[in-house]
Amino acid sequence: MSAAVVALGSNVERQTNLPAAVRALRQHPDLTVTKVSCIFESAAVGGDYPPFYNAAVSIETDLAPAELKSTLRDIESALGRVRTGDRNAPRTIDLDVTLYEDVVDESLGIPDPSLTEYSYVAVPAAEVARDWMVPGRNKTVGEIADEALPPTLRKVPMAEQDLDLTPEDAFEEYGPSDETFNPRFEALVREQLEILGEDPDREGIQRTPFRVAKSMAFLTGGYTQSLKEVVNNAIFESPDSEMVMLKDVEFYSMCEHHMLPFFGRAHVAYIPQGRVIGVSKLARIVDVYARRLQIQERLSNQVADALMECLDPLGVGVVMEAAHLCMLMRGVQKQNSEMVTSALRGSFQSDGRTRGEFMNLVGHGLR
Ligand code: ZN
Repeated sequence: MSAAVVALGSNVERQTNLPAAVRALRQHPDLTVTKVSCIFESAAVGGDYPPFYNAAVSIETDLAPAELKSTLRDIESALGRVRTGDRNAPRTIDLDVTLYEDVVDESLGIPDPSLTEYSYVAVPAAEVARDWMVPGRNKTVGEIADEALPPTLRKVPMAEQDLDLTPEDAFEEYGPSDETFNPRFEALVREQLEILGEDPDREGIQRTPFRVAKSMAFLTGGYTQSLKEVVNNAIFESPDSEMVMLKDVEFYSMCEHHMLPFFGRAHVAYIPQGRVIGVSKLARIVDVYARRLQIQERLSNQVADALMECLDPLGVGVVMEAAHLCMLMRGVQKQNSEMVTSALRGSFQSDGRTRGEFMNLVGHGLR
């Protein structure tokens, strides 16, 4: 078996074609997809064409480089690609061999010269093969990506991908059916399906135990993270003593009573006393405690206490607004009701003006 990296690009019905290509690679008998990158958006080069979605996959195959290239052409054709004279023309799907072991073959274009020319090739490739030493370049894919030139890329957030199936879903959906993630958990989900009256061997849900186990591990990932590891080295000395606030931090949690989602926005503020923390870390701290079985009051308190512990600030304020599916879906509460909780520490508790300023910024007035 040989390892290779394949680049994917689409700017015609990209939300359908990109996942379809991952699925086609995954299903091809001569290819094994081992990793799938996130999706990046790039402006089209050389013409007034719609922007691309770009991604990369790493694969293993017994096909020789030339055979692999022609296999990719076949997949392109199957997905409706028509090659024209204009090399920059919009395309349903573009599949290129970026790297193949340590092969250097100029006539085949391996390694793909665009790896060092364009960020939209280098950056996704680095997600699946960061440490791969690029033959003839004496640099890793990661190093090339770090130095990559324009076009400027945008990592497309999950919420806005608008895909029929994410590449990661396509990867999971068509993975080998004997693949397990957490056998004990999967056995329980299988039993749960039976108890619900389902047939766990029914085609649509055969892999549901696997998917549930994987998604549950993600949704409760906070249990395996520690505050220390998340905060890491992001605390800095600073003489500032103005209120620092991060508003509208999206969070997703699950209620411990029904194991159903509750989700909304957190507003986190503190007044430093010599130490500040990187703003992005505030959102990470919210996630550490949100990704567990929770009640919203405790979640707010834990976030506030975590900030008190790692920053020793003059005070901390946390307000969380969330919708609870256990209320909405079971219809026991008004459909539009959101639950609001707050946790105040230090000067946010003792000083009315600080509390007032914070609540004003949150947009709630004094409560
Ligand atoms: Zn509940």
